[in-house]
Amino acid sequence: MSFISIEKLQKSYTGTPVFSDINLHIDKGEFITLLGPSGCGKSTLLRCIAGLTPVDSGRILLDGQDLVPQTPQKRNIGMVFQSYALFPNMSVEQNVAFGLRMQKVSADDSQRRVSEILQLVELQDFAKRYPHQLSGGQCQRVALARSLVTRPRLLLLDEPLSALDARIRKHLREQIRAIQRELGLTTIFVTHDQEEALTMSDRIVLMNQGQIVQSGDAETLYTAPVDAFAAGFIGNYNLLDAQTASRLLQRPVDSRIAIRPEAIELSSSGELAGEIVSHSLLGNVIRYRVQVNGVALVVDVLNRSAADLQPDGQAVGLNIEPAAIRHLQ
Ligand code: ADP
Repeated sequence: MSFISIEKLQKSYTGTPVFSDINLHIDKGEFITLLGPSGCGKSTLLRCIAGLTPVDSGRILLDGQDLVPQTPQKRNIGMVFQSYALFPNMSVEQNVAFGLRMQKVSADDSQRRVSEILQLVELQDFAKRYPHQLSGGQCQRVALARSLVTRPRLLLLDEPLSALDARIRKHLREQIRAIQRELGLTTIFVTHDQEEALTMSDRIVLMNQGQIVQSGDAETLYTAPVDAFAAGFIGNYNLLDAQTASRLLQRPVDSRIAIRPEAIELSSSGELAGEIVSHSLLGNVIRYRVQVNGVALVVDVLNRSAADLQPDGQAVGLNIEPAAIRHLQ
């Protein structure tokens, strides 16, 4: 039996459904990411699990027990938001100890647990500071410590890194994952950022318009998208309808296809003749736009040396292995 089973979950706002049939099973210790465009229902699903938003119908079983009738306080679930939501008039240690005070944990016990958890998020030297004396990344680590200190059965993270700059975001990503692994804590993470989802998750649950489109590990979602939405959302796939695909490949193709830009090889001996229209340097990758049989393709090439950079207008050959062509429904 799964640690968490979400069954036939329904939620509407004033008659407009956000989702009408969500079914999701999560194993103990799994790190799941809900990924999808803004407005697809990720936060609502998370808030329903936390009990902050009531559901219309369906069940959320945690360890065999239905959470739906329980108050948020009874659920023993930790939650971290994008906005930190720290108490400004409390120090770091007071913020972290707050949940323990509510649980009437003894002062000695509380002090020990707060100190342990601050060590875990590497904030032991900041215990006496106030939120306005901390950076955004440090505030978010306090918020994380505050939700971990109560030893929740489940951790929910709602876009916790979105307000932070790129370097801090990367570091905190690794830190969150390391802590989650160390504690073996079942975690549901919400993001609209594909890189975050691909690098952090045991499993990605891709959502669109209130529905689960695909669920699988990063490799599966990246290399085997189930439909055009999945291919368009993850990676930078070239998405071609059947007619355009037939023109590109010079043979009949009867479905939409998706080709990853890095799966196309530029080579002088390539079977297809093309011309470089433009290029942009993305650092370790050069992204070309290439015109082939009247079709514009995006092609990514590893930037190994100056010799890899080809000028616009250059005639090139292209190879597209059959295995690199994904036929979509
Ligand atoms: P996401 O987290 O994927 O961006 P949300 O779960 O926040 O999406 O929102 C899903 C849909 O529900 C959106 O269309 C949003 O406008 C709507 N919605 C969210 N919260 C409320 C609310 N409190 N009242 C009415 N509509 C809401």
